[in-house]
Amino acid sequence: MNTIDLRSDTVTWPTPEMREAMARAEVGDDVYGEDPTVNRLQELAAQRMGKEAGLFVPSGAMGNLAALLTHCNRGDEAILGDLSHPYLYEGGAMSALGGIQPRTLANQVDGTIDLGEIELAIRGDDVHYPITRLIALENTHNRRNGVPLSAEYIQSVGNLAKQHGLMLHIDGARIFNAAVALGIPASKLVAAANSVTFCLSKGLCAPVGSVLCGSHEFIHKATRVRKQLGGGMRQAGILAAAGIISLEKMVDRLAEDHTRAKALAEGLSEISSLEVPEPATNIIRFQMAEDAKVTPEELTSKLNDQGVRIGYGGYWGFRAVTHYWIDDAAVEKTLAAFHKVLTD
Ligand SMILES: *Cc1c(COP(=O)(O)O)cnc(C)c1O
Repeated sequence: MNTIDLRSDTVTWPTPEMREAMARAEVGDDVYGEDPTVNRLQELAAQRMGKEAGLFVPSGAMGNLAALLTHCNRGDEAILGDLSHPYLYEGGAMSALGGIQPRTLANQVDGTIDLGEIELAIRGDDVHYPITRLIALENTHNRRNGVPLSAEYIQSVGNLAKQHGLMLHIDGARIFNAAVALGIPASKLVAAANSVTFCLSKGLCAPVGSVLCGSHEFIHKATRVRKQLGGGMRQAGILAAAGIISLEKMVDRLAEDHTRAKALAEGLSEISSLEVPEPATNIIRFQMAEDAKVTPEELTSKLNDQGVRIGYGGYWGFRAVTHYWIDDAAVEKTLAAFHKVLTD
C-alpha cells in the first residue's frame, strides 16, 4: 500500500499468500453446497466459534441481516444498542426487508447495554405489543472506541435472553480483536449466543466476506434467507480460500495492531490540541480542540496531502484504525504528519 490508510481495517488488501491460495483454490457450485473450499471455511469458522455450522456471506451486513431475518418474524422487536452497527450503518435493512422493529437502548461507554434496561424493555404478552424476539450485542464495539465486551457480561445477557425465551445474536465483526485483547478464545465470547457474524475482510485481511455461525437448524434456515437476499454465490471458493488463511494465520497477529494503536494514540495525545483516549483494540477515536490551528476538514486534507488518510465523522470526531498494512514506520510517519499540520 502506498498510502497510510487508517480510515478503516476494511481497506486491507489480501496478503500475497492469500492471492496464491485464491489462484489455486478448488471450487464448485456453492449454491449446490459443492464448493469444497467454502465448505472447509464454513467448518473451520464454526469450529472457531464453537457452533455447529457456518455460512459464508458476502458481507457483515448480510450476515447480520440473514441472522435477524432467520430469528425474527415481521412485526417482532429486536433489542439492540443505539450506537450499534445494524441500527446505524446497515441501511435500516432489518426494518426495510424484515419488518423488524428495532428497540434501541443506550450503549454505555464500555459498549454494553445495562442489564436492567434490557429486562425492562422485554415485552409482556399483550396484544398491544410487538413480540420481543431477540437481543443483539456488538463485540468489539465500533462506535465505542473498539472496546471488547467481556465473556461474563455476554453470559449474563445470554442468561436473561434464555430466561425470557429470546434469541441472542452477536455482531462480532471484530470478535477476534476482542478475543485477542481479552486473551480468551472467541468461542468463549459467543458461547451464550444463538448466532454470531464475524468479518474476514477487516483485520483478518481477506478481500471479501463474513461468516454467520449457529446451530445446524439455524444455518439451514439462514441459507434460504441468504438466497433470498441474492447472496448465494457460485465458485466462491476463490474468496473462501483467503478466508481460511484469515482464520489460520491472521488471528494471533491482531495483537500487533492493538500495540500499534496504543503507540499511535500515545503519540497523538502528546499533541495538545488533540483529545485521545487510550484504545482497547485497533480503533482510535479522538477529538480536536476548537481552537486548533486548522479545521477538521483541513486536518484530514493536509494529512491526505502527506499520504495519510483518517476518518472524520463530524460530532463523532476522528477515527484511525490500525491493521496488517500499518507497520511501525507507518505509525512514525503518521505522527510526523500530524505534527507538521498541528504543531510546526
Ligand atoms: C464492518 C462491520 C459490519 C459489517 O460490515 P460490512 O461492510 O457489511 O462487511 C458489521 N458490524 C460492525 C460492528 C462492523 O464494524
